[in-house]
Amino acid sequence: MHDIVLIPGDGIGPEITDSVTTILKEAGAEINWLEHIAGLEAYDEVGNPLPDDTLEALKEYKLALKGPLTTPVGSGFRSVNVALRKELQLYSNIRPAKTLPHIESRFDKVDLVMFRENTEGLYIGKEQWVEENSHAESIAVVTRRASEKIIRAAFQYARNNNRHKLTLVHKANILKYTCGLFLEVGHDVAKEFPDIHFEDLIVDNMAMQMVMRPEQFDVIVTTNLFGDILSDLASGLIGGLGLTGAANIGDDAAMFEAVHGSAPDIAGQNKANPTAFLLSALMMLEHIGENRIAKNIRNAIYKTLADKSVCTPDIGGSGSTETYTRAVCDNL
Ligand code: NAD
Repeated sequence: MHDIVLIPGDGIGPEITDSVTTILKEAGAEINWLEHIAGLEAYDEVGNPLPDDTLEALKEYKLALKGPLTTPVGSGFRSVNVALRKELQLYSNIRPAKTLPHIESRFDKVDLVMFRENTEGLYIGKEQWVEENSHAESIAVVTRRASEKIIRAAFQYARNNNRHKLTLVHKANILKYTCGLFLEVGHDVAKEFPDIHFEDLIVDNMAMQMVMRPEQFDVIVTTNLFGDILSDLASGLIGGLGLTGAANIGDDAAMFEAVHGSAPDIAGQNKANPTAFLLSALMMLEHIGENRIAKNIRNAIYKTLADKSVCTPDIGGSGSTETYTRAVCDNL
């Protein structure tokens, strides 16, 4: 029995969480879910978007499945997602994007894995007014230590998963210190992995290359902001945010989540696509060694995606969250 912290999250979070826990149970995963709240729900209930007992449980059990959390734009509380990654030192954000069968998308040979540095860059939240309401500034931090960790994790993943190329994405032509350091560390770490072909690309060129010829990419590593944007782009290549899983992994803790947000526009309407969250849960099952169960569920997902009458509207289906969930369970 695995003890795993479960945060259903905001918006569509509870619906896709119900779906995922139902499917994992049906597939025979032996998990003791320890349910906790965070995000807008927690803010409304206890006045804190990241309650102490939620954080304590995460630090104690070191393994979590987390639904999407709403972050107010512009003002209000700071992103809980960012705080969690920092508190638990989850420095690798890993997002695979692989063409799925029966899903219409512009490309059919995408199979890449994005490693995004999760704790530094422009996302450290160091912003200030130089002059209130007319001049703001934001600080980006890049350290050799954190860069080495994420770049080495990406190389190691490539080696362990029989992948052959690593592309480091940066903007070192303009951001000579921050991105320059990240690139320099990339060249240093690459010497430890002579079996993996190493290349670097400037982020604007990368954005174009990804929509022109995404099949040329294998493993990608980049800083926090670029990774945030490019990984959504990668999801778009394979059919959208409803179809991509994600893992946040540190040296001793791991948190799995869908890449999409809380989708308030469709919350409570039985329209949310659970596939992304389910794929994240499969990454979690693989992380804890339950590879056979993960494989069974993956096959059931592929079979389900072939029947549009049970799939959700975002992928051209005429079904609902519930019909999809039932179909995956039936296909197991
Ligand atoms: P979003 O991902 O919630 O929604 C973007 C669009 O995609 C919407 O039209 C939505 O209906 C659709 N969509 C997203 N997930 C879907 C799914 N599973 N099935 C079907 N359609 C889906 O992005 P947003 O609207 O920019 O953000 C809403 C909130 O979510 C914000 O508060 C934001 O901060 C938060 N957010 C959280 C996370 C996270 O918790 N990891 C990630 C991104 C955004």
